[in-house]
Amino acid sequence: MTRKRLVIGNWKMNPPTLTAAIDLARRVARGPAMRDVQVGVAPPTIFLAAVADALRETPVVVYAQDVSAHESGAFTGQVSVSMVSGFAAATLVGHSEMRRYLADDDQRVAAKLVRALKGGLGAVLCVGEREDEFDSGATDRVLATQLTPALRALREAGEDRALPERFVVAYEPVWAIGTGRPATAEHASAAAKTIRELMRKDFGLDGSTIAILYGGSVSAAGASQFAKAEGIDGALVGGASLDAQAFADIVRAFS
Ligand code: PEP
Repeated sequence: MTRKRLVIGNWKMNPPTLTAAIDLARRVARGPAMRDVQVGVAPPTIFLAAVADALRETPVVVYAQDVSAHESGAFTGQVSVSMVSGFAAATLVGHSEMRRYLADDDQRVAAKLVRALKGGLGAVLCVGEREDEFDSGATDRVLATQLTPALRALREAGEDRALPERFVVAYEPVWAIGTGRPATAEHASAAAKTIRELMRKDFGLDGSTIAILYGGSVSAAGASQFAKAEGIDGALVGGASLDAQAFADIVRAFS
């Protein structure tokens, strides 16, 4: 089965101004139009509307970086699925920086994932082990710990149907994010295999239809090894996505 290939730029808390964000969006849109690779950007929430506007009529897909697990109410600082829906087609959930700095745990990530899919957004579920877990050979155990509540919640909510169109997993080893030390392609492929195996064995899902991205210090120079890696269908790119040229080279590598 041919899975979709996608490269998504996670801008994190960048660039510093609205003008710079619109400019970056326009430069991404002028990048390579690859029929076989879907390109996406995930700007900060405050820039979503303007970036969506700048990318209207282009094939670049807009992602939110996060959504609330709640529909509405007294949740100061949070943004709901319905609020981002007019601007973003999908959202990241469970990014390791959300887990680390804003205390997202597996249960809340699962709730966000369900909320996003129920609300009609696509979702990219980010999973990956910390360095100490990698060092102790615990990658598979961590992936199971993170994926199981999310997939169980999807099943309980009846949202495990039509997953291939709307659900993507990003394998992002925490120790590789922003460090300039990407995982090896072999390690990424092994993780993708573990993820698909778990989907099949524990949830009866056909993991071969679900796209898995690699994320963690993907650069223009290093992208091709992941593009060739078995079971890896694209990249979630942080730092390098702020440079439109480098991002375009990464997109090209996956084509
Ligand atoms: C990320 O933020 O998801 C990421 C992978 O960052 P970087 O590419 O900078 O490691």
